[in-house]
Amino acid sequence: MTTRSARRSRATSLLRREFILGAIDQHLRHLTQTITDRSVGAPGNLAATDYVRDAFWNYGWAVDMQEFEVLDWVDGDAWARLDGGVRLTCSASPYSSGCDVQGPLVVASSLDDIRQAKTDGAVLLLTGDIAQTPFMPKNFPFYRDDTQQKIIATLEASGAAAIICATPHPPMIEDGDFDLPTVCLTENAWLDLSAHEGREVHVQSNCRRRPSVGRNVIARIGKAERGTLIITAHIDAKKGAPGALDNATGVTMLLVLARALAAYDGPYAIELVALNGEDHYAVPGQMAYLSSQPDLGKSCALNINIDGIGYVEGKTAYSFFQLPPLYRSAAQRLLASHPNACEGIQWPQGDHAIFVQAGCPAIAVTSQWLLDNMHTQAVTHSPSDQMGVVNPERLVESVLALQRFVEAI
Ligand SMILES: [Zn+2]
Repeated sequence: MTTRSARRSRATSLLRREFILGAIDQHLRHLTQTITDRSVGAPGNLAATDYVRDAFWNYGWAVDMQEFEVLDWVDGDAWARLDGGVRLTCSASPYSSGCDVQGPLVVASSLDDIRQAKTDGAVLLLTGDIAQTPFMPKNFPFYRDDTQQKIIATLEASGAAAIICATPHPPMIEDGDFDLPTVCLTENAWLDLSAHEGREVHVQSNCRRRPSVGRNVIARIGKAERGTLIITAHIDAKKGAPGALDNATGVTMLLVLARALAAYDGPYAIELVALNGEDHYAVPGQMAYLSSQPDLGKSCALNINIDGIGYVEGKTAYSFFQLPPLYRSAAQRLLASHPNACEGIQWPQGDHAIFVQAGCPAIAVTSQWLLDNMHTQAVTHSPSDQMGVVNPERLVESVLALQRFVEAI
């Protein structure tokens, strides 16, 4: 290459990076600032799926919206008060029903405590051992804990008027299928409520459940001579979290890839899927997608799932699941040509697990920092998950790397 053409190609690629960076900034801002609350079924969630659908259309993809019913939830203030005492500030458990009830306080720190107490009409304070671990939603399709299932069934049969959780891990219960009104004591209201067993307590919680709909957005291109390459990112966020890292960055990757791959003419069909429900107790979008894809194990040549990419600190982690040699060697080349990438451990808590379970090869893309701090980090699912925790350069590198990868296979 002559020096002049080398210079010209360097200038073109710099220009291209700048262009991608601009698009990333625009999408992230829209998904985390213009829109608030992307939890499934919330107005912001519907606005986000419309935004993604329009972008896919504009880049020339065929788009399908897969609609399903879902329970949305509106937060409200909550408190508990001992007879004659002051109001203790509580937070309503997400997806709980509201209440305005009164009853004697029963304190329970084990399943036996609940079984042995007179719980009918009581306000049940869960504290100690029983309140140390958050409960899995009772109908969660991918995992069951038998001990927790017993506790949940006992609570539901208890006749209690409401539950107060004194837990170091609020909300402890986040489950629209669990019908007892539930609140958590906020930390400064921990007081020793358990010392007042038997006294009358009044609980009010002004949240409410709201039936709604949600949608998966599926964009398609190409002819499936060698199967379908399915690139996924969940579009929903936890209630109360702006969801920049989890997972506006993943959705932004889908949108930028939609543009980068619009002219793709290789042997695969490509599907870009904004799945809607990874952070909802009922994972409704994933269930709707699965039931529409009975032959996923055969039709899907490879899943690439993007969730949590772009944290300000550390590299981008690519984790590989049952890759055949062709993909494995292309993946190794991707790692080698991508300065801020590394191979990650095989983590199961993401939408790629659906594909892995169906027998498909999969690549999960996230931030290495999240893998290193999985059990202690307080960024995702919290109000601090804002654009400031994202380094958009990590996204630019990954878009270019994934585009090369798709072209290589
Ligand atoms: Zn996520």
